[in-house]
Amino acid sequence: MTRPLDLVIFDCDGVLIDSEPIASRTLARSLSAAGLSMTAEEALRTFTGKSEADMRYYFKAAGICGIDSLFSNWHADVYAAFAAELRAMAGIEPLLRALDVPKCVASNSTLVRLKKSLGLLDLWDIFAPHIFSAEMVARPKPAPDLVLHCLAAFDARPERSIMIDDSHHGIQAASAAGVKAIGFVDPNDPRPDRREVLLAAGAAGVAVGAEDLAAMIIADLAPSTL
Ligand SMILES: [Mg+2]
Repeated sequence: MTRPLDLVIFDCDGVLIDSEPIASRTLARSLSAAGLSMTAEEALRTFTGKSEADMRYYFKAAGICGIDSLFSNWHADVYAAFAAELRAMAGIEPLLRALDVPKCVASNSTLVRLKKSLGLLDLWDIFAPHIFSAEMVARPKPAPDLVLHCLAAFDARPERSIMIDDSHHGIQAASAAGVKAIGFVDPNDPRPDRREVLLAAGAAGVAVGAEDLAAMIIADLAPSTL
């Protein structure tokens, strides 16, 4: 019997873990201290799904001085907040435990941040050692590099793999690698246009919440595997 799917690739922030509100709130605080006034929602809209290299480029263009100390202040703040309040995305852990196919994480976050966020939760052990950071490849998402890295690690065929991401960058990366992309929207996300953004980026479908996501993954699987 052939495998129903070679690989399911999950983005981390905003899909596996409910980290984006915490990251945006603390980033807005650090940016304001560095002289760039920004609300948490503006930070969410501007930086969600971006790598730190891309953020650094943005900060430089905005004329911020002391970018290294901005990052170190923010890291201290965000990692303390993760330790105090980070949770898995609602409903995602049961979905993962029931999903009996090869799976991995493909994140634009640094390895340090992955350890200090996903690493706090039981979800880490579901994926380890298959937790891949953009630091492991030349270019972060939206380039296909990280998705191709995941496929190679599992000897997986792109046409028999799917990727789930809440950012248009992740959807673009999957599409560029020939992998079907499913957009994910946190039901608590304050942004009203997420479905349209993800579909416009090339998502084959958009799931709102883990239950919806499970139904969409089932559609790609033989009935007995989930
Ligand atoms: Mg994300």
